[in-house]
Amino acid sequence: TDSPAGDFLREQVRRDNAAGTFGGRVQTRFPPEPNGYLHIGHAKAICVDFGIAADFGGVCNLRLDDTNPDTEESEFGEAILSDIEWLGFTPPQPIRHASDYFGQLYEWAEHLIAQGLAYVDDQDTEAISAGRGGFGKEGIESPFRNRSIEENLDLFRRMRAGEFADNTRVLRAKIDMNAENMQLRDPVMYRIRRGHHFRTGDEWVIYPTYDWAHGQSDAIEGVTHSLCTLEFDTHRALYDWYLEHLPLPGDQPRQTEFARLELTYTVTSKRRLAALVADGIVDGWDDPRMPTLRGLRRRGYPAKAIRDFAHYIGITRTNSRHSIELLESFVRRELNTSSQRRMAVLRPLKLVLTNWPKDADGNPVVEWFEAVNNPENEADGTRKVPFTGELWIEQDDFAEVPPPKFFRLSPGKEVRLRAAYFITATDVVKDEAGNVVQVNATYDPASKGGNSPDGRKVKSTMHWVSAPHALDAQVALYDRLFAAEVPGERTGDVMDDLNPDSRELLTDAKVEPALAETEPGQVVQFERLGYFAHDPRDPILFHRTVGLRDEWAN
Ligand code: ATP
Ligand code: MG
Ligand code: MG
Repeated sequence: TDSPAGDFLREQVRRDNAAGTFGGRVQTRFPPEPNGYLHIGHAKAICVDFGIAADFGGVCNLRLDDTNPDTEESEFGEAILSDIEWLGFTPPQPIRHASDYFGQLYEWAEHLIAQGLAYVDDQDTEAISAGRGGFGKEGIESPFRNRSIEENLDLFRRMRAGEFADNTRVLRAKIDMNAENMQLRDPVMYRIRRGHHFRTGDEWVIYPTYDWAHGQSDAIEGVTHSLCTLEFDTHRALYDWYLEHLPLPGDQPRQTEFARLELTYTVTSKRRLAALVADGIVDGWDDPRMPTLRGLRRRGYPAKAIRDFAHYIGITRTNSRHSIELLESFVRRELNTSSQRRMAVLRPLKLVLTNWPKDADGNPVVEWFEAVNNPENEADGTRKVPFTGELWIEQDDFAEVPPPKFFRLSPGKEVRLRAAYFITATDVVKDEAGNVVQVNATYDPASKGGNSPDGRKVKSTMHWVSAPHALDAQVALYDRLFAAEVPGERTGDVMDDLNPDSRELLTDAKVEPALAETEPGQVVQFERLGYFAHDPRDPILFHRTVGLRDEWAN
């Protein structure tokens, strides 16, 4: 692999294939819980799970881990599928659900009970958790641990039949109450819960835990390499224990953990992202400041940039936080080749050319310049841009009294208007408060196209929009949603690190007429300003994806 960080998972698969483990088969799965939208962290897992399967001619299932009826909805499942497809991966149909296996899981639970390896515990949650003890502390066996197999089977069947109230009994695996690994201290397999499940309705009143459902679902589907993030490290022994004690239909899958993706100035936890939405701090899951795939997409991030980034950071076993600027540099690299150039003025200032000619009817002449759409891709062609004697320029491209090293426009100074003419500012018009509201200038007709025949040099080239042709637009500029590199590090609460100025909406932007043809969602480069994504719903709104300057330092 050419990822600088390396990729121990592909190495492992190669070794397995060489040794004939799993008969040379490679099957993975991506198992999100349908209780929220996918974020950039999930994107890494998707690239790992789908990418490895694809590289070795295998399959990666999308499996919705729908074992909790209280928090899950079918709407999330549909959004998850469409986000995965947007990212560039195609899960095989039908989409799998952990709930497809509730029947098999139930039978296997009875199998464990019949082997004397699981028991019904009447203790409540607090008592169970107290009995577990802690690291270095002995566990205390439940008084119900040594029930007979017959009594356990009877109670478990009655749990399923709905004879007991919610949370009054659980099924636990009978492993080892003194295991050093807490996960092995008789983990809970089933809880009683009467939530309405979005797929199985009211068929079940007992629901499997994550650990009881996960490895077994892997085995049922024929997963070989079950790849998950490092926090499941301590669950692996339990994953193996369950599988070793069941009559599996095929090979026993193997869990391997890899590092989560964390980014500076970014929160990647569904629960915390949900809080931002619920508290109205952002405008929803697809707010362009959100690190959700919906948010990044609306912001203008190309899917390919995210995939390239995931490939570049590689797969390791050490958690680390990557710099958001690195991700942005992949976005910029991709947009530089894929996006067309346009001119837009974000904070307009009127510029009047006092020597601009009028036609026979006394109207100002309009010239149409041919502008290159994308210097990186000739196939993108050219477009016509209107130019006349009344233009919009950027307010901060003009200074009445220029500070040192200010090379843009000021009285007496000559600059180039991109692809048009050299102009020299002569004087200004001010409002009653003394603000400059108009700059007057003269143009040099001999410099048509942006070069003077006498070889005269200017220090600045500025963008512009013809005032009578300009379209009104709104432009949203974004800063980091969190002001701290590691949100929440200081106080334990990420909300304490919110950046209060993460969005600035400019409502008076003027853009060239060609932008009327921009597709919803399309990203263009506004010359000198950055990359901007056309909002998918609001035809006059553009979101700044990233600026032009690469801030990533190797
Ligand atoms: P969150 O903590 O954001 O709620 P989760 O782990 O509970 O995420 P799941 O829907 O269960 O969300 O995640 C599905 C898969 O995505 C899991 O295999 C998980 O390991 C992986 N995943 C989640 N977050 C990240 C991340 N930041 N980096 C890499 N993989 C991740
Ligand atoms: Mg989870
Ligand atoms: Mg989680």
